[in-house]
Amino acid sequence: DRLVDAGADGEDTAVEAALRPKDLHEFVGQEKVREQLDLVLKAARARGATADHVLLSGAPGLGKTTLSMIIAAEMGAPIRITSGPAIQHAGDLAAILSSLQEGEVLFLDEIHRMSRPAEEMLYMAMEDFRVDVIVGKGPGATAIPLELPPFTLVGATTRAGLLPPPLRDRFGFTGHMEFYAPTELERVIHRSAGLLDVAIDTAGAAEIAGRSRGTPRIANRLLRRVRDYAQVKAEGRIDRDIAAAALRVYEVDARGLDRLDRAVLGALLKLFGGGPVGISTLAVAVGEERETVEEVAEPFLVREGLLARTPRGRVATPAAWAHLGLVPPQHGVK
Ligand code: ATP
Repeated sequence: DRLVDAGADGEDTAVEAALRPKDLHEFVGQEKVREQLDLVLKAARARGATADHVLLSGAPGLGKTTLSMIIAAEMGAPIRITSGPAIQHAGDLAAILSSLQEGEVLFLDEIHRMSRPAEEMLYMAMEDFRVDVIVGKGPGATAIPLELPPFTLVGATTRAGLLPPPLRDRFGFTGHMEFYAPTELERVIHRSAGLLDVAIDTAGAAEIAGRSRGTPRIANRLLRRVRDYAQVKAEGRIDRDIAAAALRVYEVDARGLDRLDRAVLGALLKLFGGGPVGISTLAVAVGEERETVEEVAEPFLVREGLLARTPRGRVATPAAWAHLGLVPPQHGVK
């Protein structure tokens, strides 16, 4: 339920369909991936062939699902969406694969979380477009080969490095999705505001973009919360002051840190003089589980250059002191 969580919540799922870019031109940013993918798809179309399998790696909310839908649209093909955790048995995967139409795009989110037997079945399906369906058990079990129509697998993973090499090698193309620059997020925000019929000026969009942690999903979510505020307080118009005031209400600060992030950073600076301090101690100090601090707050603080992990513990950087408006002890009074 964090406003700055990059994962999708129920409300996002409902609105995201309406905000998804429909083709590669509408898709903001990710120039490299877009250019490379454009070539892959154009070449496949020119050959009248099914596109090569595509692996998309990158953090949540950067547009992997959106890109897979664009791939299907550009190829004029239907799309089937599923995820690694939903495929627990090889049989689950066989059922999906055997019902694909020719040229269909199969989007497999969190592909690194598929079960081992399913993964092995996928190797053969990707390479030879066939699977062996095992019938029976024990010594009497037989493998019945099943031909599949050619299809395009689009796998998504938070880290390509998590995939076993034999799986990674079976993708014809790997696209690495990067966090978005603030100017790119501004374009995402202007585009979404247009679709949601919200009036926003350039400075208002920049204000939201700077707090969106490089992630379009968060940008769209913050835009919706700012829109609520603007409707109640400013006849629906969003400018810099309205955006800043709205996000102050929701406790998302100028760099996109929320209450938890600031609590962790605040404890590190004020209670432990900037560290080094162990993660468990830090977690106790803010009254959270160690996992919450380590997995929810810390990665963004590290990415932002506010906190460093060292062998002796967590250490605040000079930027952390500056961000919270505090002076490091060696420079005098706090
Ligand atoms: P997850 O892995 O968490 O499912 P994802 O990477 O698949 O996330 P999407 O669901 O594709 O992310 O995107 C999240 C939201 O951000 C969608 O509403 C989408 O419209 C928007 N979005 C993502 N990338 C872009 C982009 N490049 N341009 C415009 N909007 C984008």
